[in-house]
Amino acid sequence: MTRSFKTLDDIGEVHGKRVLVREDMNVPMAEGRPTDDTRLRATLPTVTELADRGAIVLILAHFGRPKVPTPDLSTALLTKPYEQVLGRPVRYIDWEGDAANVATLQPGDIALLENTRFFGGEERNDPATVARFAALGELYVNDAFSAAHRAHASTEGLAHVLPAFAGRQMEAELDALDKALGNPEHPVAAVVGGAKVSTKLDVLQHLVARVDHLIIGGGMANTFLAARGVNVGQSLCEHDLAGTAEAILAAADRAGCTVHLPYDVVVATEFRANPATRTVNVHEVAADEMILDIGPAATEALGDVLKNCRTLVWNGPLGAFETPPFDTATVALARTAAALTQDGSLVSVAGGGDTVAALNQAGVADSFSFVSTAGGAFLEWMEGKDLPGVAALTR
Ligand code: ADP
Ligand code: MG
Repeated sequence: MTRSFKTLDDIGEVHGKRVLVREDMNVPMAEGRPTDDTRLRATLPTVTELADRGAIVLILAHFGRPKVPTPDLSTALLTKPYEQVLGRPVRYIDWEGDAANVATLQPGDIALLENTRFFGGEERNDPATVARFAALGELYVNDAFSAAHRAHASTEGLAHVLPAFAGRQMEAELDALDKALGNPEHPVAAVVGGAKVSTKLDVLQHLVARVDHLIIGGGMANTFLAARGVNVGQSLCEHDLAGTAEAILAAADRAGCTVHLPYDVVVATEFRANPATRTVNVHEVAADEMILDIGPAATEALGDVLKNCRTLVWNGPLGAFETPPFDTATVALARTAAALTQDGSLVSVAGGGDTVAALNQAGVADSFSFVSTAGGAFLEWMEGKDLPGVAALTR
C-alpha cells in the first residue's frame, strides 16, 4: 500500500536514537487512578516496537486542560498505571533538568515526559516550545490521531523541525479512514445518528457528496421528517433547521445519494427506562408522543441496504440507546453490520463517543473493521477537514 505519510517501516535505524513519541494518554481518572486504560493500551504497539528496536523512547502527552502546572494533572500520576499496562519500567521526567535526565537513558528505555500543557506554548504552537521539545530528541513519531485536529507544539509543530513518522496507532487509524471515505469500495453507506442535526451539519454536507446511501437516524431524523411535513409530536426536533434539512436532501439528490429516513418508529409519552411504547408509521405519531428509536421495518430495510454495500461509515446511534428498549434498532443494525464484516462483504468503520459505547453495548465493537475512539478528530475527519497533525505528517 502506498501512503502519503511515513511510518515506523520507513524510520530506519533507531538503536540508541532519542525518539519523541506523541501519544494520547488523556485517560479519565478517579481517586488518582485511571478508570479506563484503553488509551494507555493503544500506545503499546508503537512504544514496545521502538523500545525493542533499541530506541530511547520519550513519550510526550497532554493530560487534562491545565493552564499552569497543576500537580493533579502531572503525568507522574500515570507512570505506575502505565508501567502495569506496559509490563516494563517507565521513567517519569519533569520539566526541570529534563535534558540532563534524558541524557542518562539507555537504548530500550522508556520515559514519560511531564504534561506538555504545562507549557503555555504547547496550545499556541509557539516555536520556542517546539524548539524546547525538539531539543530532547532526534526523531518524531506522532501516534495520537485523537489529538491531530489540534495544531499544538507536540502534535503539529514538531513535525516541521524533526524527521516525522506516523506511529502504529496513527497508521492504523489513517488506513482505516482512507478505506472508509478516502478511497472506499462502492457502494458506500453512511449511518449518521445522534441527537441533533446542528452538531453534524458539516458531516451531513460532506457525506452526501461522497456516499451512495445516507442513513439518517436518531433525534436528527426527526428534524428531517418534520421538514418533510411529518408531525413528530414531542420528539427532540430542531424545527428551525427545516430549511437546512431540505437543502441537504436536495444536495443528496443532485449527488445521486439515496437518503434513508425511517418510515416506522418507536414512540413513548415518557422518556424513562421501559415505558409503555408503540411502534407506528411516522405519520401516526400522536401529539403527546416522542420518537425514541427507529422501528423494526425500517431497521430490516436498512440491513438490506448494508447487504448491498461494500463500505460502511457510522457515527451516531439510531435511537436513545442509553435507555432501554430504545437501543433496539442500533443494536440490531450494528449486529447486521458486524456479521457482514465478518463474512468479508463489508468494510465497517465507526467512531464517536456515544457510537463506541453503543457498539460495545451491542457486543460488536471487535467485529467491525475499525472503531475509532478519537472523538473530536474523528468527527472533523467525517466533516472532510484537514487535520493539522495529519497534514504535517503528509507534507
Ligand atoms: P456520538 O457521540 O457517537 O457522536 P451523538 O453525541 O451525536 O453521538 O448522539 C448521541 C446521543 O443521541 C445519545 O445520547 C442518544 O440518546 C441521543 N439520541 C439518539 N436518538 C435520539 C432520539 N430519538 N431522541 C432523543 N435523543 C436521541
Ligand atoms: Mg456524543
